[in-house]
Amino acid sequence: MNNQNHKRIIVVGAGWAGLGAAYHLSTQGYQVTLLEAGAYPGGLVAGWQTAEGRALEAGIHGFWYPYRNIFALVDHLGLKPFTDWTRSTQYSPKGVEAISPIFQNLPRLPMPLGTFAYPQFPRLPLADRLSAFPLIQAVLDFDNSDEAWRRYDGISARELFRQYNVSERLYREAFEPMLLVGLFAPGEQCSAAAALGMLYYFILAHQNDFDVVWCRGTVGEKIFQPWCDRIQASGGKLLTQRRVTDVRLDESGRANAVVCGDEVFEADAVIFAVGITGLQNIVRHSPSLRQRSEFTNVMNLGAVDVLATRIWLDRKVPIPNPSNACFGFHPTTGWTFFDLNALHDSYWDESGTVVEADFYHANQFLAMEDADILKMVQQDLTACIPAFGEAKVVDYGIVRLPKAVTHFAPGSYRYLLPSTTSVPNLFLSGDWIVNRHGSWSQEKAYVTGLEAANQVIDQFGHGTPANIIPVESDEAHVQMGRSLLRFVRALPFAQRGI
Ligand SMILES: Cc1cc2nc3c(=O)[nH]c(=O)nc-3n(C[C@H](O)[C@H](O)[C@H](O)COP(=O)(O)OP(=O)(O)OC[C@H]3O[C@@H](n4cnc5c(N)ncnc54)[C@H](O)[C@@H]3O)c2cc1C
Repeated sequence: MNNQNHKRIIVVGAGWAGLGAAYHLSTQGYQVTLLEAGAYPGGLVAGWQTAEGRALEAGIHGFWYPYRNIFALVDHLGLKPFTDWTRSTQYSPKGVEAISPIFQNLPRLPMPLGTFAYPQFPRLPLADRLSAFPLIQAVLDFDNSDEAWRRYDGISARELFRQYNVSERLYREAFEPMLLVGLFAPGEQCSAAAALGMLYYFILAHQNDFDVVWCRGTVGEKIFQPWCDRIQASGGKLLTQRRVTDVRLDESGRANAVVCGDEVFEADAVIFAVGITGLQNIVRHSPSLRQRSEFTNVMNLGAVDVLATRIWLDRKVPIPNPSNACFGFHPTTGWTFFDLNALHDSYWDESGTVVEADFYHANQFLAMEDADILKMVQQDLTACIPAFGEAKVVDYGIVRLPKAVTHFAPGSYRYLLPSTTSVPNLFLSGDWIVNRHGSWSQEKAYVTGLEAANQVIDQFGHGTPANIIPVESDEAHVQMGRSLLRFVRALPFAQRGI
């Protein structure tokens, strides 16, 4: 069969979403051009080398147990990029607060029992932990449908936890830290819908969901480089340092070209795979998109600042677990640190320690001088593991990421966009796009890229749609609970609202 066709597809943005769309369409014979504003593919997961040959990344990225589509992709590409499943520790300025096991190694219990029973909490009293149980009603009620999003998006996660009488201490010491690292914002700034969706996907739905692996080097080197080679081998073009500023429409309202500074790329269909800030910048410059309210409404959305730091120390500091999450150090900022000697192949025999410390909702840190940031990082690390205090920093990298990650603020759902738009051949993808798959973060970005590719295939009737693996289905008792709640909600005397 001749797999070639002459449809030109322009994909804008080379993160997980754009690479996913570009790869699938190029394997289906489309003429794909992928335009990336940055110097490297990878988007928020990009990695690069400094002039001295040190590897840096825009933060360390974990791959959780439910990332079925990404795991299937790396198998298909014949890659072995990941570590084994890792345990993690949670610290506050008082010391260790929680240690998570590798859940799949323990007898599987019905959700949410394993999640509550198996981690060790040396300080958090049982009574506080038990106060989470009433929240199960909201977890069951939130089924990721449009209706559920509308119902829960109007209130903040903070209000939700109060309404369900979750103890103040459990909120402060368990749920808010998860929101800070999972949704990049404190509870009062997170939509309750997003909080329920994120917590269910990563932690609650099935006991194993919180198990995580990491790349054994930068994701750029281990996954994106070989993947981009495959895109190019399939005929796709990848052009970096191309910042798209407009999309041109013909008289019938179809997109026929993408403008990139002085260059114009003709197109039969366009996929935007840019984050919220990226789309806002395009809309600002685009006479055609500025006339459409769905696009001007995107200006109501927000994004969160993140700070990624990597430090090289002159000696070995023993770090009990490779991945660590921290709370209580800064009022509205969560942070994580990673033992790269344990995770990255290239640092195994390094004589000193290499640590990555990433700060989320880091607005107040981005303006600080490097020296002050380093001081803060070392102080915070020392509060967790005192031996960090004696080590000397011999090298470092600091990556400031302003307005980088999606902010799922209360009330934001109404402005988030689906993959189809009022321009019939312009499709959207990315981790902020509304879909019903149920995944989050990198996995969601990749899935929306495949969904956008499938919209193109559907429109032109050429090629085989990408196979998108659904999330593991709800456990039987969860399905029963959801049905029961739906039944009660449908009763004439049932209360409206949450
Ligand atoms: C520090 C940090 C830690 C994280 N940790 C995790 C984690 O552990 N696990 C996880 O799953 N997720 C994590 N995430 C989130 C994850 O990185 C994102 O969900 C995912 O990378 C989003 O992919 P995307 O393709 O939607 O967008 P992006 O990665 O943002 O890609 C969009 C691309 O579009 C390009 N672009 C923008 N505007 C234009 C334009 N006008 N023209 C051309 N190109 C343009 C950008 O340069 C970018 O390359 C983390 C994020 C950060 C910042």
